[in-house]
Amino acid sequence: MRTQRQMVDYSLRKRAVLRELLAGRVGTYDVCDASPYLKNAARYHGEPTDERCPICRSENLTRVHYIYGDELKQSAGQARTLAELPVLAMTLREFQVFVVEVCLGCDWNHLVEQYLLGRDGLAEGAEGGPEQDAVGGAAASGTGAAGRRRREAQR
Ligand SMILES: [Zn+2]
Repeated sequence: MRTQRQMVDYSLRKRAVLRELLAGRVGTYDVCDASPYLKNAARYHGEPTDERCPICRSENLTRVHYIYGDELKQSAGQARTLAELPVLAMTLREFQVFVVEVCLGCDWNHLVEQYLLGRDGLAEGAEGGPEQDAVGGAAASGTGAAGRRRREAQR
């Protein structure tokens, strides 16, 4: 996503957890503790992946995107589909995205990464100044044409 910035990758931490598990220093009940809320979010807003669950190896992982930020008001802390994020990113100045992977089979869950999205990221780039307002307005009205036009303009 174009406005994505300040990405923090938690894959090292995930590997450390899996190592601890293999070594028997933590039990599966410690790491497979997805809450009913998280599992519901995964079912209704989650993004399926091709990645096998590292614990049960029988289900593919689902990624849930949680959004946080003052501008979101009552929506803060809610899960959003991946498709909804670019629209929000053009509407809002800045919000935080937390990506959590969940296995609906065994309840394994882990924070994958976090990053910032929003129009403030456009100002940091070298290009894309004057068209910001037009794109933001079109995105808010829910048309996909503006995004396509913008990508073509950049070529
Ligand atoms: Zn699993």
